[in-house]
Amino acid sequence: MVIGILKEKNYKRVAMVPASIKKVEKFGCTIVIEKSAGLEAGFADSDYSSVGYSVLERTDVLKQSDVIVTIEPIDELDVVLLKQTALVISMYAPYQNEGIIEKLNQLPQAFVSMDMVPRTTLAQSMDVLSSMASLAGYKAVINAAGKYVSMFPMMTTAAGTIPPTRVMILGAGVAGLQAIATARRLGAIVEVFDTRAAAKEEVMSLGANFVEVEGATDDRGAGGYAVQQSEEFLAKQRALVQEKALKANIVIATAQVRGNKAPLLITEETINAMKPGSVIMDLAASTGGNCAFTQNKKTIHKNGVTIIGDSDLADELSQVASTLFSNNILNFLHICIQNGSLHLDENNEIIKSALISKF
Ligand code: NAD
Repeated sequence: MVIGILKEKNYKRVAMVPASIKKVEKFGCTIVIEKSAGLEAGFADSDYSSVGYSVLERTDVLKQSDVIVTIEPIDELDVVLLKQTALVISMYAPYQNEGIIEKLNQLPQAFVSMDMVPRTTLAQSMDVLSSMASLAGYKAVINAAGKYVSMFPMMTTAAGTIPPTRVMILGAGVAGLQAIATARRLGAIVEVFDTRAAAKEEVMSLGANFVEVEGATDDRGAGGYAVQQSEEFLAKQRALVQEKALKANIVIATAQVRGNKAPLLITEETINAMKPGSVIMDLAASTGGNCAFTQNKKTIHKNGVTIIGDSDLADELSQVASTLFSNNILNFLHICIQNGSLHLDENNEIIKSALISKF
């Protein structure tokens, strides 16, 4: 069975890295890869060919492969070149991409969306959302520190004492927790908002302050996910966010509710009241953002505050992001391949959830 890896059109990452080859061989598969696919992630074609991968033109990869692995879904021109029996493994984000499953259902090939792998302990090693979110949380703090007009740690010098930076984090999911850890390592004072009751302990264990807003909707029946909050709760939360934002220098916004628009937590009024020189990194940008002016992939300046919308920060860490993504894919292939052949067993909960369109 041939597994094909394509060059991403809009990402620096590559779906599989050379180090994966030995493990793929154990599954009884061979790998073909598009020319220059790994270059922007720090992997030369020779890194692949020297460990036995064939480096080919895109059309040949598409025509020869039984399984295609990409991060960004392939377009219609690519799909027509595929074998009718091919399985495509990618990230279709059906929660955000209305109608995509119906569209894929019209094609003869089968499609897996890695972002539909359940967030369970058993599936943790295949959880691409967590892998990418944790890198994004780290990078958000690093980028914010780069843009910020001062520095993170408290420093006492002969010329005076510099106070520590105050960081506010909205949402303590995977990205938020990594942002807390990174900001704390750099010496910041960190305050955190989340609506899930379970988040409080995790936040405090990282040495940050958890800000409680009374009256959150109970999320115990939601399998660990956040639930949508009432407008009354959000209004109360926005007021408290504003109070804390007046003292904050950096805001890392990650609050999201799966399948819904991100909650608006930072209003125009809040931004107007914030200190000039402050930086807001909005990682929820692709689902509308937590801040009034957020635009995904854009930097906006309002009243001296810099608002950076970016839901794809993991791509800036293209080498490590490719390596983690590749490991997630390997672990997923491990449950889908038996004796060198595809075996999509829908009794397996992980396969059942991720297989968004069957043959
Ligand atoms: P996400 O990106 O969907 O959301 C980020 C955070 O925003 C969440 O913590 C959410 O509670 C929070 N949020 C939502 N509304 C908010 C509001 N109004 N104010 C403040 N915060 C708000 O989350 P994620 O990182 O993808 O994680 C989703 C859930 O899945 C989490 O509970 C996480 O612990 C869980 N998870 C479990 C596993 C596992 O068990 N294998 C792996 C990864 C994630």
